Amino acid sequence: MSNTISILGSTGSIGRQTLEVAEQMGLRVAALTAHASVERMEEQARQFRPRLAVLTDEAAAKDLAVRLADTDTRVLGGFDALTEAATVPEADTVVTAVVGMVGLKPTLAAIKEKKRIALANKETLVCAGELVMDAADRYGAEIVPVDSEHSAIFQCVQGCVDRGEIKRLILTCSGGPFYGMTYDEVGKMTKADALKHPNWKMGPKITVDCATLMNKGLEVIEAMRLYRLPLEQVSVVIHRQSIVHSLVEYRDGAVLAQLGTPDMRLPIRYAMTYPNRGLNPAEPLDLLSCPPLTFAAPDREAFPCLAMAEEAATEGGTACAILNGANEEAVRLFLADRIGFHDIPRLVAEARTAVPVVQSPTLEDILEADRAARQVVLGN
Ligand code: NDP
Ligand code: MG
Repeated sequence: MSNTISILGSTGSIGRQTLEVAEQMGLRVAALTAHASVERMEEQARQFRPRLAVLTDEAAAKDLAVRLADTDTRVLGGFDALTEAATVPEADTVVTAVVGMVGLKPTLAAIKEKKRIALANKETLVCAGELVMDAADRYGAEIVPVDSEHSAIFQCVQGCVDRGEIKRLILTCSGGPFYGMTYDEVGKMTKADALKHPNWKMGPKITVDCATLMNKGLEVIEAMRLYRLPLEQVSVVIHRQSIVHSLVEYRDGAVLAQLGTPDMRLPIRYAMTYPNRGLNPAEPLDLLSCPPLTFAAPDREAFPCLAMAEEAATEGGTACAILNGANEEAVRLFLADRIGFHDIPRLVAEARTAVPVVQSPTLEDILEADRAARQVVLGN
């Protein structure tokens, strides 16, 4: 059970919903971070009175320091300050809600301080899952997933003493806005089309990842790392309604699922109250009025990113860091209207071919793989 939290990425979609949950639950807030959203950060700092507010953009941090001069909140700028925010002593829980691999170092630092990690920032586990999970074991830090699918699985494995009894994890996937289209049809879709997710309102990067199905590929890797399972034991099923959040099949044939209204405040709140349960902050699920629940196989030809992530997961080592770094840069270019939709898988494939994979990587190897992959994409 969390009492005092720090949020990395408090101005984003997950960050803002976490503050809503914190307010409802009466949690204290020790530190908040964002990149450059000065006004929103000022508002949040005035309302929640954290000890520390960080903006990684130095100029924005200077502006914030002037705005908050009449408060007790200390303001810091730059990337190293993320680690300071992740290790503020009074916080027992760090919510990692930044977007991208930038979350890795602060997450590792928080783990070393034995904080509970409420983990939304999936890129961290994708790039360095083994390092993160090993560190969590070594320091005895709890990692509670916030991603709705992984929270569902986490809830379905409570009470499972022998993880060897798990036969398969089944991740559900909405299919995104281009579900049912052929590869050629998908290629004609624009940024505005990609940003229309059918069921969830999220930040732009993950919304594009949902349209390419790279998000589901990243989630397959995230699940493999969290539960230390091989790819053969993690499958994906399309479920357009986003009501069954994921399932666990046990060796005796029992399949446990977690269902709920698609509202991220539910998994966020569970990550705060675990192992207890708080009150529902959203609309209750009404089975009689919800649409029929349907399931289908994903189309890996129309959406090649899913298979690319699965291949990287099988290869292991730095393959997933290369995949992720290339994808982060490609999505950035797509959001800046500089490349088309199909250029995303094309550039990721180029980076995967160009950058050699290092097995049993150190943190430095992972950071280098990420840097090299980004360079391949930007050099194109
Ligand atoms: P948003 O884009 O809405 O928010 C990102 C947050 O991170 C903002 O506070 C932003 O600050 C900050 N940020 C962005 N870039 C940097 C950077 N380079 N350095 C430091 N801080 C940065 O993202 P989401 O909330 O949608 O997603 C956050 C994470 O959670 C992602 O990893 C995503 O995959 C995961 N997730 C999100 C879900 C959702 O429903 N949104 C569901 C499941 C997982 P600023 O405002 O200043 O730019
Ligand atoms: Mg998810």
